[in-house]
Amino acid sequence: MSAVEPPLALLAEVTHRCPLQCPYCSNPLALERPANEMATADWLRAIAEAAELGCLQVHFSGGEPTARRDLEQLVAGATAAGLYTNLITSGVGWDARRLTALIEAGLEHVQLSFQDSGADIGERIGGYQGAHAKKLAAAKTVREAGLPLTANFVVHRQNLHHLPEMLDMAVTLGAHRAEIANVQYYGWALKNRAALMPSRAQLDEMTAAVAEARKRLEGILVIDYVVPDYYARRPKSCMGGWGRRFLNISPSGRVLPCHAAESIEGMAFDNVRQRSLVDIWRGSEAFNRFRGTAWMPEPCRSCDRKEIDWGGCRCQAFAITGDAARTDPACGLSDDHARLVDVAVTEADAGADGFIYRRYGAG
Ligand code: SF4
Ligand code: SF4
Repeated sequence: MSAVEPPLALLAEVTHRCPLQCPYCSNPLALERPANEMATADWLRAIAEAAELGCLQVHFSGGEPTARRDLEQLVAGATAAGLYTNLITSGVGWDARRLTALIEAGLEHVQLSFQDSGADIGERIGGYQGAHAKKLAAAKTVREAGLPLTANFVVHRQNLHHLPEMLDMAVTLGAHRAEIANVQYYGWALKNRAALMPSRAQLDEMTAAVAEARKRLEGILVIDYVVPDYYARRPKSCMGGWGRRFLNISPSGRVLPCHAAESIEGMAFDNVRQRSLVDIWRGSEAFNRFRGTAWMPEPCRSCDRKEIDWGGCRCQAFAITGDAARTDPACGLSDDHARLVDVAVTEADAGADGFIYRRYGAG
């Protein structure tokens, strides 16, 4: 294998504690208990090692990262190591005073998640009454503090009809960027797939609404949007390729190639408490397992897109086929693609709407 390139960014999942209970949460079904979370000193060492490895950015995530009282120390450590810092937050559980402390520690950007454009559906999805007003207040606080803001909307069958309102809301809040993130179906979202899967007609409406908004809001709002996997013809370049651009550290220190990698049964991940991040990135079995193109089966092996999408998503291949080494079923060339589309159409038509909420012990 050729020399391993340095990663671009570290996703630091500092805790799984969160006041919300989104049924599509990307955290694993077995949520990490607070007692297992890494200590401040371990996180600071891991962050410094990420910088040494060549990372340019650290995204503090969770759960709700502000649930950790030492977040300011971690942000300060990242800043001292020369990393760009971003807070990925639900907007619930912190106030202007906390944000000021984080900014003093060096925080440079906030990404705030919304479950919908309004309280009714949004609070049903998040399982937290009163969350919407807190999120709006959080957005105002961020903008008044002069930080750039990204508004993140996770979209699915139960809120997609509000897409235009979500984009208008992002503009009103002074966001620079809106991420329209289709649910990725593994972990909690896989459990709730029947209640979340959009229909093909909804997808067409969504794509048209995004195209219209991109024109109308040019120079005002950047809109990130990717077609949902189950209706795509070719897969996305998941994480920019396994072990190529990103690494993720779980609350207890397990180092993962992506936030969902623990959904792949049978894979073992090294812990940064026992092995340096530099060593894990370059030499661990898990990172090297699907790195590059040598692991690929046909049709990927002889495909001219293999260094564009890197064979798609390993977690999705596992979720649908039980084998993480197969071609991503989102690819129209995969033998499993027809089954994937069938599942999507059947579940969207059935129209189930009950959720299994993300909670400790519910997975
Ligand atoms: S997706 Fe929802 S439950 Fe999961 S961490 Fe984010 S806000 Fe919390
Ligand atoms: S066959 Fe493999 S490399 Fe080619 S487009 Fe499909 S997933 Fe990508």
